[in-house]
Amino acid sequence: MELLDGVGNLSGVGSKREAALERLGIVTLFDLLTYYPRSYIDQSTVTPFSALTAGMEATVSGVVMNVREHKAIRGMHVLTAYLSDGTGYLSMVWFNQPFLAKSIVSGRRVFATGKVDYARGGKGALSMAQIMAFSLLEDASDSSPKGLLPIYAATASLSQKFFRSLIAQAFRKKPVLPEVIPESVRERYGLLGRDEAFFSIHFPKTKDTLSAARMRLAFEELYLIQCGLLLVRKQAREKEQGIRHLMNGRIVKKIFETLPFSLTKGQEQAWKEISADMEKSTPMRRLVQGDVGSGKTVLALLALAKTVENGYQGALLAPTEILARQHYETFSRLFADTGIKVGLLSGKLSAKQHEEILSAIAANELDIVIGTHALIQDKVHYHELGLVVTDEQHRFGIAQRAELKKRSAKTPDVLVMTATPIPRTMTLTVYGDLDVSRIEELPPGRRPVRTFVRTNERRGLIYDFVKKEIANGRQAYVVCPLIEESEDSDLPSAETVYKELSNGIFRGISCGLVHGKLKAKEKEAAMRSFYEGKTKLLIATTVIEVGVDVPNASVIVVENAERFGLAQLHQLRGRIGRGQFQSYCILLAGGEAGAASERLRAMEKTTNGFVLAEEDLRLRGPGQFFGSMQHGLGDLKIANVLRDTEILLRARRAAMETMEEAQDMRYVLEILRLNYSNRFGKILDA
Ligand code: ADP
Ligand code: MG
Repeated sequence: MELLDGVGNLSGVGSKREAALERLGIVTLFDLLTYYPRSYIDQSTVTPFSALTAGMEATVSGVVMNVREHKAIRGMHVLTAYLSDGTGYLSMVWFNQPFLAKSIVSGRRVFATGKVDYARGGKGALSMAQIMAFSLLEDASDSSPKGLLPIYAATASLSQKFFRSLIAQAFRKKPVLPEVIPESVRERYGLLGRDEAFFSIHFPKTKDTLSAARMRLAFEELYLIQCGLLLVRKQAREKEQGIRHLMNGRIVKKIFETLPFSLTKGQEQAWKEISADMEKSTPMRRLVQGDVGSGKTVLALLALAKTVENGYQGALLAPTEILARQHYETFSRLFADTGIKVGLLSGKLSAKQHEEILSAIAANELDIVIGTHALIQDKVHYHELGLVVTDEQHRFGIAQRAELKKRSAKTPDVLVMTATPIPRTMTLTVYGDLDVSRIEELPPGRRPVRTFVRTNERRGLIYDFVKKEIANGRQAYVVCPLIEESEDSDLPSAETVYKELSNGIFRGISCGLVHGKLKAKEKEAAMRSFYEGKTKLLIATTVIEVGVDVPNASVIVVENAERFGLAQLHQLRGRIGRGQFQSYCILLAGGEAGAASERLRAMEKTTNGFVLAEEDLRLRGPGQFFGSMQHGLGDLKIANVLRDTEILLRARRAAMETMEEAQDMRYVLEILRLNYSNRFGKILDA
């Protein structure tokens, strides 16, 4: 049989079952063979009856001595078989399967896995009534162990037994399973052949063969996707004419002299990588991943200076108006002695000011332009754009980046900065076509933020503490969950909390309020007042999540913290601990359950964003984690991005090696054409 033959060709598959299989996505023989078991029951160890205890899950084997059938309450049919294995006796019970009485008869050997418990009214005798799997052996003297039993995602009409026998039948037809991994790669990475792997994933003899088969098939899946992603990157590079920047010159050096600090190791490494990329004629596509406060801004600054000293313009896209303004101020200050002219393209400019900025950009009178979406939405014409930096890129789509690139003849370099600490393995799958620099450490001298989870009963004490911090000259944030108007909930909104606090314990202290429903102007004014230190306590929704840098703020209190995701809590915590003061993050949980949640506990345990991201991924699973995020994962059938980190890294390495070997590359290209044309279609046609 061929892999693309329909499952209808197998015996036992009539039109009804064919339709039921199709509902599970199983149409061809290949679909069936890749309908991998969900789990396995280990039947390799048979426990003698004499060694069984109540509550134990075990595999047993015994000969039927006696069978009894009766009707229990509500007409339930009960079949009880009494078995002996030479060491003792055990009863086994089947409910509502009267047809079994024909085959479970005296003298037959039953092989079964299930949970053992005290028999009903059995005066301490043991019984197996929760049977997970059983079979009747042909040979009653057969007491050999049976290995691992596959468990499929079965349905009401398609049973476990059906799947097991259908797949066994498929293998008896000796399907042709062409290899898809180049031989050199298989040898180098010690991978099983494809035939063997497919067979063993369904019918493993031992745990070792199972793990070798899983490894091979997961590797195959990840390797081919990585090859596809790397190919996308390679072809984009070969097609696009980029800008070859010169070695770091006068202005970059000047910036280094002006900086009030020296770069951390991570920043230095990232800067080296960025410089090298920019000096190549292929366009840069680099992602800088670094926790909040790790100092990504200075990298943007240096890269922009580099493009300007080469005679090009640079653009910096920020996710919010406030952040754009903040960057504008930082950059104007640090570029002051360099002659670089920076412009802010804000959504709030008057039409006339707006026109002026646009024409200054077109006339090359501005070297660097900073802004929000306005930078891409408007008809901005650059004189010659050399570099685009996007900050917090998860708010910008790939399409928007592409749009911005279209604005110039040569493809500008692209530098993406993100504080969303995606686990390393995720980076490979989400940003598989970007190069990645990671900044792992924070600048020296920071005191880690201390985090506490507290229940609402302690709210009064917490705010007393906040008041003391403010008396000492610090500032504080209070964050409330976003509440939809329609939501009938007794959670207080930011507005309620503002009224309560500013009229209560914080009476006489200047408090501010920001939330999404304020007009942009009002929001801006409230943020600015806090930024300038006029407001001491800022009550807000998550609008403060991104970017704002107020080093004097030393406390953040999160109300109903259980309503926030880990990534969000981590971002919020990043608002404090930015100066020399010991800072505190207090997570107020609505109830005991909230306080006990693993998520909040994880926040107490670590301030490392990468560790939290791994934890978030573990708690929520990849689907939740990514939400609507753009990624290249597709639907993996066997590889598990959580468990298979090692395999993914090896597959990535193998894919990179394959890119370098023409023969292997041709081989894989053909495989990708056959198997992944829907995903990588465009590049494959090129
Ligand atoms: P990020 O954008 O990565 O969250 P920022 O670039 O805003 O972080 O940097 C946070 C703070 O750390 C800023 O006040 C910045 O001036 C400071 N900073 C950055 N790099 C260093 C360094 N190497 N040494 C000391 N302080 C630094
Ligand atoms: Mg930043």
